[in-house]
Amino acid sequence: MMSNSSGDFCKCVDTAHEMLTAQHHEIDKSFQHSLTRLDQRIMKNPLFRRLQYNISKEALNMIFNRLEKFDDDGKCDCSLRTTHGLPCSCEVDGYRKSGEPIPLKAIHRHWKILTSKNTSKREEDDTELCPTPLIDEFWRVFNGTNNEGKRILMDKLREVNFINHSLVNIVLDFF
Ligand SMILES: [Zn+2]
Repeated sequence: MMSNSSGDFCKCVDTAHEMLTAQHHEIDKSFQHSLTRLDQRIMKNPLFRRLQYNISKEALNMIFNRLEKFDDDGKCDCSLRTTHGLPCSCEVDGYRKSGEPIPLKAIHRHWKILTSKNTSKREEDDTELCPTPLIDEFWRVFNGTNNEGKRILMDKLREVNFINHSLVNIVLDFF
């Protein structure tokens, strides 16, 4: 067994594993906060309507805070777009002037990943084909949010329902 003054190798691996697991839980918790706890000023701003619950809270705050600064001094260096893949204040101002909410396509996909689980490698097993965990997750988020959040989630559910009806027709046409 490998060992040194601070303990054996297995103990180090176990400790590292525990630390990583704890970090993993913290990251997942922050993702859940992105889904359930949003700044009321952002919640009430129609510009952010399409982004709420679809991108990370961190990204929402960055866009919002930069916009507040822009409204004070009228300056935008466009760095949020170039360094973070997020709409900079002059871009957001364009949406605002056109009366459109910021579209999801203006957000780099990095900010739309609200889970730490690996979504690129999909394993073909039965559990993935079972909707129950998704439905449970929906209920958990739904029950944990306020009425405004519930309304947004209901809108999303209606969108999914509509999309699914369209998809069923496409699949039926295909076969
Ligand atoms: Zn800009």
